[in-house]
Amino acid sequence: MQTLPTVDAPCALCGGDRAERVWTTADRAFAVPGLHTVVRCRECGFLYQRPRVRDAHLAACYPDHYPRHQEPSPRVPFTGRPARVRAVRWALATGLGYARLRDAHAGLLTRLRARRLLRRLRWSCPPWRGDGRYLDVGCGSGASLGVAQALGWRVAGIEMDTAAAEKARRFTEEIYVGDVRSAPFGRASFDVVTAFHVLEHVPDPVAVVRRMLEWLAAEGLVIVEVPNAGGLGARLFGRAWSGLELPRHLSHFTPETLERTVRKAGGRVVWCWHQAKPRYYLWSLSHVLRDRGWDSLVRVVESRPVYGALKLLLEVTLPLARWGRRGEVIRIGAMRG
Ligand SMILES: [Zn+2]
Repeated sequence: MQTLPTVDAPCALCGGDRAERVWTTADRAFAVPGLHTVVRCRECGFLYQRPRVRDAHLAACYPDHYPRHQEPSPRVPFTGRPARVRAVRWALATGLGYARLRDAHAGLLTRLRARRLLRRLRWSCPPWRGDGRYLDVGCGSGASLGVAQALGWRVAGIEMDTAAAEKARRFTEEIYVGDVRSAPFGRASFDVVTAFHVLEHVPDPVAVVRRMLEWLAAEGLVIVEVPNAGGLGARLFGRAWSGLELPRHLSHFTPETLERTVRKAGGRVVWCWHQAKPRYYLWSLSHVLRDRGWDSLVRVVESRPVYGALKLLLEVTLPLARWGRRGEVIRIGAMRG
């Protein structure tokens, strides 16, 4: 396979042309040929890929077995024993605005269990708003749509990849196949609009967020999740950081640059959460070892007992990254400005 044609585009955030090189790597996941470079804008500090693959060829960076295009497995929360389901309903009712799930007879144990469950649930379930109209931008094969639908939302999606969009249709007929900017949904027609791990893939993130904000009804919420280039992993691992994902990730946001993106698009960030999972650090660690040619060590790290032990160790220490607001992933809620 030949290297794909590239474009030397300036900073998508400020338009600045001056930049310094930060990291260069090959494609570690799907072997798109060539070396790919992340630069830092000298004007505003934004981290972005430059040069990057031309818009018309971006689809060639995504193979058929790209994870988001595989069979969807929605994390619908109503699973397990009746006692757990009761706690889930209570958590959704009291913590995420699902008033109709409220059960006046919920006991103390249910309420305590709900409080513990809520920490996870708020990552997989959108908070209830308005009339329950939900749009997922870059919905892939539709896992998030499946969850929202099970929670009572009327759902719609946008997806570039035809095969993935076809799978997402099992949840709704309202799937637009194509670019966010040309999607035909009307102004103010959704209460929640999400984009999970999408913004880092698009050439013009400001335009995409602007469009998402336009689709919001009054009091509606945009939710965006991206890898955090300002987190501990990027600092520790540099060019081996698992969030780089070159050449597919065109932008590398920090909480600060993501907020600037939202403001430029006409919105304001109302909250920012940090998340870290052991596997993100372990992927980065494998990249470091491979870069040094220590492939036998990679096999040791990836062997089940060692991987399990490292994962457990990280599981214990990771809350620190979240509390210190240096997580591997950031998720923001934003409203119209
Ligand atoms: Zn800039």
